[in-house]
Amino acid sequence: MAAGSRGRGAAPAAIWGSASPPRPERLFVPFCTAWRTMKAFGKVLCAAGSLAVLLAFFWRDTFQPAEQLSGARVLLTGASAGIGEQMAYHYATFGAEIVLTARREAVLQEVMEKCLTLGAKKVFSIPADMSSPSEPDRVVQFAVQKLGGLDYLVLNHIGISPFQMWAGDVEHTRWLMQVNFFSYVALATAALPSLEKNHGSVVVVSSLTGKIPTPFTTSYSATKFALDGFFSSLRHELMMQKRNVSITLCILGLIDTATALEKTRGKVFITAFPAPEAALAIIRGGAARVPELFYPWWLRHVHGLWVLLPSPRVLQSFYNHSASDRGAWKPGSP
Ligand code: NAP
Repeated sequence: MAAGSRGRGAAPAAIWGSASPPRPERLFVPFCTAWRTMKAFGKVLCAAGSLAVLLAFFWRDTFQPAEQLSGARVLLTGASAGIGEQMAYHYATFGAEIVLTARREAVLQEVMEKCLTLGAKKVFSIPADMSSPSEPDRVVQFAVQKLGGLDYLVLNHIGISPFQMWAGDVEHTRWLMQVNFFSYVALATAALPSLEKNHGSVVVVSSLTGKIPTPFTTSYSATKFALDGFFSSLRHELMMQKRNVSITLCILGLIDTATALEKTRGKVFITAFPAPEAALAIIRGGAARVPELFYPWWLRHVHGLWVLLPSPRVLQSFYNHSASDRGAWKPGSP
């Protein structure tokens, strides 16, 4: 028994020529020799393998919906259709307590019923038109009262806007600013005290059009740039004041919701990505408290490339110029 254990213990000494553990430089020398004798293809393979191991280590999936979102209190806007509706179903599946809002009461009711069948702990809805400046306060008060506080405020709704060349409708831009921007500011302001108490999160759904100006989206793009300016500045201030509320700005590409597909049909040469996947990416980003979330993920690099090498002609080649004026309203027309 004693001899056996000595024998096992002796093996490393035999290999390294000493009983003491190998010094790091001794490990490094054979590696350097092997690297020098390796062919270029082998070096590329070796480097790619090492990179893959590092990426796998650092990009471990830390999203645990059952722990992070079961019982979470969520106020979700624009919940009657598209990405908002899909987010409602995901939150429900994860066992969250949800308040849904949008304008159409009957549709909200249907979404609410489906949420209950999917496993939501509690679901309420409140119809509200965010073009009215008094609605954000009323909606937040309702949610705080029904849920007893808020952990997530998910700002997702948008007003209808055309996908066409600018035709001079200043009044529509003013209205859209109210729906897509001012109501977001008012909702976040009203919800901040409750979110702060619960170390909660504001999740703001934006678009690549809010990072890179694209054709046919003048007013919409302006509202999304405004969201980035306001909420990215607010994020700094909350951190400086040590107020524990995270802000996640979600930058989405084209998503296959009914409204987006109808608006862009024949006008863009861009692939649309699935709404349920986009909705899940937003929820994960909010739960991970990341400052910015890009979906699909590679849009981050598209944006980075645009900042380094902006090329309007390349960007314009994705848009069908001849189809862009269909149905455009012009100032002075009836
Ligand atoms: P959507 O299908 O058109 O849904 C919009 C939601 O907003 C609906 O629930 C609608 O419900 C609600 N809404 C409309 N007007 C409203 C108002 N005046 N007051 C309150 N609620 C109102 O939109 P989506 O495509 O899912 O887009 C959701 C988010 O993703 C938006 O922030 C959008 O900018 C962003 N995004 C979308 C895409 C895309 O390709 N789909 C791309 C990038 C970013 P009611 O009609 O019942 O009010």
